[in-house]
Amino acid sequence: MDWRVRFVDYPEQWRRQRPELLPVIEDTIARGDLMLRQQLRDFEEHLARFGGTARAVGVSNCTDGLRLLAHALDIGPGDEVVSVAHTFVATISPFALRGATPVLVDIGDDHLMDTDRLLDAVTERTRVIIPVHLNGRTVDMNAVRKAADTCGAVIVEDAAQALGATFDGRTAGTFGLASTYSFYPAKMLGALGDAGAVLTDDDTLADRLTALRDHGRIGKSDLDGWGYNCRLDNLQAAILDWRLARLPEWIERRRHLARIYTKLLSDLPDLEIPVGPDADPQRRDVFQNYVITSDWRTPLAEHLRDDGVETMVSWPVPLHRQPGLGLGHHRLPRTEELCDRVLSLPMYPELADEQVEYVAASIRRFFER
Ligand SMILES: *Cc1c(COP(=O)(O)O)cnc(C)c1O
Repeated sequence: MDWRVRFVDYPEQWRRQRPELLPVIEDTIARGDLMLRQQLRDFEEHLARFGGTARAVGVSNCTDGLRLLAHALDIGPGDEVVSVAHTFVATISPFALRGATPVLVDIGDDHLMDTDRLLDAVTERTRVIIPVHLNGRTVDMNAVRKAADTCGAVIVEDAAQALGATFDGRTAGTFGLASTYSFYPAKMLGALGDAGAVLTDDDTLADRLTALRDHGRIGKSDLDGWGYNCRLDNLQAAILDWRLARLPEWIERRRHLARIYTKLLSDLPDLEIPVGPDADPQRRDVFQNYVITSDWRTPLAEHLRDDGVETMVSWPVPLHRQPGLGLGHHRLPRTEELCDRVLSLPMYPELADEQVEYVAASIRRFFER
């Protein structure tokens, strides 16, 4: 297939970054800096500063970050973990695999956790609440804090899609005990492979996670306890550190592209678009994704494909409708309705304004027909 607009465009990203990034890669390899070296420490320091926390711990991916947290918090059978069904399965799986019971709440108009439902969902068994800052938009953290305080639960923010987003002027990922980030290549900040991090203000927790990611090691040979191998590759850390310095510019670029989509699509009657980048004074959204919704989702996606535009559906089946997960007792009507209607449009810093205009024009043609 000859796409006019890819859903992500890694070759174009590499073409632009190669002149400066290739020497970073070459230098790191030439020094032999392959495992847990200075590049990782530098990246962790810069990431913590960017994310607004005291500490950042680089790990192999976001899922492993959540796994190490579930271990550090000693989550187990009888514990309840409250989150949503409209998310990537990795939000929940590390807790479910330790025997905890997932309790899922419905979502609101902006596709994020409906925090009005939280107080009904928490019990004295709730150990963790996991708000998911989906699509680069922060959950209402005042409401999450209130619910957590009523039951004594800790908040772990799944900020995999929201590096750099803010709520009430405060950076997403700084509201709870800890937050987790994904550097999967298509995320806000992408590695050339898998990578992730946990951010926290809690030094004791950060030290524990640092030991857990490396077999429980503290110092050269002492063991803190049983551990895992969930290290962040030093080479990926060097790449991420170079890219992190450019992230503010890329976030502005995403917000600029969102502005174009919003301007060109806001008047179509059979289409709902995300809250625009300038429409919510309480939030600065970073547009990891630009997700539209329509009853005509499937024919629209086919029409766009015929016009050479690649799109994606995240996710067509919500977690509570996955028979293998044992979550079928949940009743989440808004989540179910949305999963039939969502469509993610191309959204990444390398997109040209004209490409976004092309996508929008194609969508307009579909609805005006
Ligand atoms: C990408 C993603 C994850 C998982 O990240 P990995 O780095 O692939 O493990 C978890 N939660 C959400 C919301 C994500 O988008």
